[in-house]
Order: sequence, then structure tokens, then C-alpha cells
Amino acid sequence: MESNIEQISKVISESNNIVFFGGAGLSTESGIPDFRSVDGIYNQKYDYPPEQILSYSFFRTNKEVFFRFCREKCLEPILHAKPNPAHLALARLEAMGKLKAVITQNIDGLHQAAGSKEVLELHGTLLSHTCIDCGKKYKLEDVLKTEGIARCECGGVIRPDIVLYEEGLDNNILTKSVMYINDADCLIVAGTSLVVQPAASLINYYRGNKLILINKDPLPAEQYANYYIHGKVGEIFEQVMKYVDKN
Ligand code: NAD
Ligand code: ZN
Repeated sequence: MESNIEQISKVISESNNIVFFGGAGLSTESGIPDFRSVDGIYNQKYDYPPEQILSYSFFRTNKEVFFRFCREKCLEPILHAKPNPAHLALARLEAMGKLKAVITQNIDGLHQAAGSKEVLELHGTLLSHTCIDCGKKYKLEDVLKTEGIARCECGGVIRPDIVLYEEGLDNNILTKSVMYINDADCLIVAGTSLVVQPAASLINYYRGNKLILINKDPLPAEQYANYYIHGKVGEIFEQVMKYVDKN
């Protein structure tokens, strides 16, 4: 049965070793589209699905489209995005000593912008980019100033520091994420459709009985959750924090 805000707030308020695991749905209220909502990137007009464009083989063979998509759907929205109440609440819970880590599939840097310190970025970040020939680092702003295929002063292609589909995840980040989830007393999972692997399987390492699932739309994973609630994660966290502050 779906929980209410009060029940979820109480669990969060009583927990002191919280770990958060999130996805693209966390940033839609900041104006960055996700993949699988009705207004997500999947349902906008593009010749290829986002997962194909953001794959290593596509990057290698179709750089024009890769960079056009990256600029329009990822870099531009991120440049103007600000953290929303969900990002801010997680940073506050960490500062209060209640939350130990944010594990995210997002590549937008909004958790750090909100003030979160322990952020494990499973899929890397779009805030930095690297020349594939000489290794020179570039910022998102620098790449947005280029046109077409982003090129380094050495002539090499500049790629975003994200993990593309077909590429492996960083082992250190994975191991650390498993440790945090394994030790957590409460695991909050929000704004993720839990279909991108291996990230989605990480929640299987949770051993406690306070798994909270927050998502706009219903998900099959609700059957494993101890608590679940449907709604916008930013709005839900605003109410949760009011409860936490009072108690
Ligand atoms: P997804 O698009 O597959 O799923 C997002 C989920 O969040 C959906 O189930 C949707 O119903 C829900 N959602 C959307 N807005 C919400 C809101 N305001 N409150 C609560 N729930 C909301 O995203 P995913 O599971 O993270 O997988 C997509 C992959 O794409 C990830 O690997 C991620 O790296 C990448 N991605 C990242 C960004 C970003 O950095 N902001 C954006 C798009 C995609
Ligand atoms: Zn270079």
C-alpha cells in the first residue's frame, strides 16, 4: 500500500545512516528532461533513441549527431539549471549528519551545486570534458563555445567525462557505493526507473528494512520497497524537511 508523507518523513527523521540513490527524475524539476517520462527525451523527436546516441560505438561513428544531441539535450539545459528542493534537502540531511552519501546516475552536477559533499557519480559528469588525444581538460562552458564536433587546440576530439553506454563503470565508485548501501539503515531511492544496469542492481545490496521508493510514476520495484510514494520528489522532500525540522 502506498505510504503517506507523514510515514516517510517519520522514517527519515528517525534514521541516522541514510543513503540516497537517484536518477534523472531528481532533476526534472530543475528543468533537465529525463529519459522515460512522457515529456522525457525518449518522446521528443530525434532520429535515434538517447541510449543509442550516448553509446560508445555511436560516439565513434557518428560524432556530428552525438555533439548536436549533447549540446541541445544535455549541456544547454544543465548550464542554466539550479538545484531544486530535493537536491537542497539531501545536502541539508548530510550537513545534519543523518545522510552519509548520495549515489547518483545523474551527470548534471546539481547535488554538488546544492552543497552535497559525498556524491558518487556512477555515470560521470558533463561538467568536465577531456581531449581524447592529449588529455587536456575542458569545462562545459568551453565546449558550448565550440561548434559541430568539439575540438581541442591540438585538433583532437573533446569528449564529455561521462560513462557512455557500452563502457564500464568506475570500479572504485561501484565498490564505495556497495559499501554505503550495505551499511545504510535507510535507503531512499528516487527519480529513477531502475532499468539502467548495472546501476539499478546496486539497491540489491541493501539489507535493512527501511527502503523508501519515491517516484512520479508507479514502478515494478515497489514490491520490494518497505515504503513507496508517488509524486514529485522536490515537493515531497520539501514536506519531509518541514517534518524533520519540527521533530
Ligand atoms: P529515467 O529517465 O529512466 O527515469 C526517470 C524516472 O523518474 C521515471 O520513472 C519518472 O517517472 C521519474 N520522475 C521524473 N520526474 C520526477 C519527479 N519530479 N519526481 C519523481 N519522479 C520523477 O532515468 P534514470 O533511471 O536515471 O536512467 C536514465 C539514465 O540517463 C541514467 O543513467 C542517467 O545517467 C541519464 N540521464 C541523466 C540526466 C541528468 O543528469 N539529469 C538526465 C537524463 C538522463
Ligand atoms: Zn588535445
